[in-house]
Amino acid sequence: MSTILYGDSVAKNIKQQLKEEIAMLMEQGKRIPHLVVLLVGNHPASVSYIRGKQKACQEIGMRSTLITLEEETTQEEVLAQIQALNHDEDVDGLLVQLPLPAHIDEKIVFEAIDPQKDVDGFHPYNMGRCMMGNTSIIPCTPKGVMKLLDTINYEDLSGKYAVVIGRSEIVGKPVGQLLLKRHATVTICHSKTKALKEIVKQADIVVVAVGKAKMITADWIKEGAVVIDVGINRHEEYGLCGDVDFESVLEKASYITPVPKGVGVMTVAMLLENTMECYKQRRG
Ligand code: NDP
Repeated sequence: MSTILYGDSVAKNIKQQLKEEIAMLMEQGKRIPHLVVLLVGNHPASVSYIRGKQKACQEIGMRSTLITLEEETTQEEVLAQIQALNHDEDVDGLLVQLPLPAHIDEKIVFEAIDPQKDVDGFHPYNMGRCMMGNTSIIPCTPKGVMKLLDTINYEDLSGKYAVVIGRSEIVGKPVGQLLLKRHATVTICHSKTKALKEIVKQADIVVVAVGKAKMITADWIKEGAVVIDVGINRHEEYGLCGDVDFESVLEKASYITPVPKGVGVMTVAMLLENTMECYKQRRG
């Protein structure tokens, strides 16, 4: 039987620390960190994620502003808005909510954000630094995954075999790099991987970021493995669930994250942490 790795208790501690830092800044009469979220269109999941991020900012006393642009906004207009925010001295962190409408190239958008305000850590400069082991601005979800692993005294990943399923720029690839930096032996799998189940069955640590409801069942998991479920799926039959079949894998894994209350809450906490980091970096 597994221990359930709840992200919400870890996230709560992180938020409390940030709240105290912000209270101190206020006491000293200093400007407080300011996060701006840019939403293009009104994708229902994005609206709900943004609400969560704004609520979290409010909880710790961090300023947050939401700028909403019409779905039809051109890429040039989005880039112009980003430039204006890059030059706004009052803005510390800038996040462009994904997914973007199909006519906008997200890679161009990521590159337009000032790396010093890039709280998501998706700018190639910050991604490159993350790959080279710099730990200042790391993409929020991968950073949250690593913090969750820290809570189980798994700091020494040396020699552990980690399998990451999913190779996206925002989750799979950076998670793989962070695990590698901690001396795990890493395999990153994707939709073209052959004998996927056989690979996963050998893993000491499995990180799943695929976007397929309950794809990973107990028969994929080695007895005692640590299972981190990044997936967030809204399934007709199962409702809100991860990529891992939680109930069956619970019997097999040593540790497992739930969905919700697992990685998702850590992502939001890491966003707050990155905003504070950008604020500090900009103030020198
Ligand atoms: P992407 O769609 O960008 O990437 C999915 C990855 O899964 C791809 O690399 C794809 O392979 C791979 N894949 C798809 N099907 C299979 C399969 N049958 N077998 C093996 N690999 C497969 O998704 P994201 O990385 O953005 O997100 C993944 C999940 O995590 C989603 O559910 C998303 O909602 C969730 N998420 C959760 C966050 C959180 O805070 N908890 C934050 C971000 C995402 P290929 O590259 O070959 O197409």
